[in-house]
Amino acid sequence: MIKMPFYEIQDGIYEIDEFDCDNIFVIVGDDKALVVDTGCGIGDLRDTIKRITDKPYEVVLTHAHPDHIGGADLFDEIWLHPDDWWMLDKEICAKAPTLEYRKNYTEIIRNREKKFYDYDPDIDMHEWEKVPKLLPLKDRQVFDLGGRKVTAYHCPGHTPGEMVLIDDKTRTLLAGDACNCNLLVNSAWKDTPRESVKSMMEALKEIEKLSNLYDHMYNSHHDFRSFGCKLPLHVLTNAVKCMESVLNGTAEYVELPNPLSKNGGTKIFAICGKSMISFMEGNIKDECK
Ligand SMILES: [Zn+2]
Repeated sequence: MIKMPFYEIQDGIYEIDEFDCDNIFVIVGDDKALVVDTGCGIGDLRDTIKRITDKPYEVVLTHAHPDHIGGADLFDEIWLHPDDWWMLDKEICAKAPTLEYRKNYTEIIRNREKKFYDYDPDIDMHEWEKVPKLLPLKDRQVFDLGGRKVTAYHCPGHTPGEMVLIDDKTRTLLAGDACNCNLLVNSAWKDTPRESVKSMMEALKEIEKLSNLYDHMYNSHHDFRSFGCKLPLHVLTNAVKCMESVLNGTAEYVELPNPLSKNGGTKIFAICGKSMISFMEGNIKDECK
């Protein structure tokens, strides 16, 4: 059995490391648990959840990128914002969670991290056996786990249906991919790349306005922070500032290696403090002039 390491990051909140591909969170209440994301689909996530809790649980996805939805077929139903449902269809979405796409992604991570991982993609990853039933996750939907409530907030921009979650017991924000030190904006989300940046910035400002509800933040990829450690709150503030600078023409740009390039390619990033913003596809500097 593939054993994924996990760490209790806050009282009753566990972070699971899926071999540097993605981080999955399990929030355990008195009555039930909430699983946040399902990784790329390496091994059987249900075994790791069992090591954490024997309580019944629901599964919620921050968004539908293949490194977050990859293991979703193990579950009968998942909560996902409807604006991301189209991303499961490989006929219309280049990032649909096919086995080929997910294996390709794990290969990039394995090579990038230059580490040995205790899994074999050819044995431990599989094509989906079924599509789970999709449940429509809504903005401000509350999951009452018993002794703690977790609220989901819509924060689009990385994907149209991106969500973040706030746990009231520990005042913890799980930011998914909506905030990290290397923020990827979907430039085609709105009519123009500028409009995409502006809309994502406005969504992040709404999350900043909720700062009276959280003291801690964790994102979904611990290569932007040490495993089990928090993402500093100023990363969110700087991400907003960085987007403002892109829109008002004062941004500082740098060309750096693209962490998701297979052949050592580079890309252009706007930077502000420890926050960098770039487009998933395209050049943020040229397209936001
Ligand atoms: Zn993502």
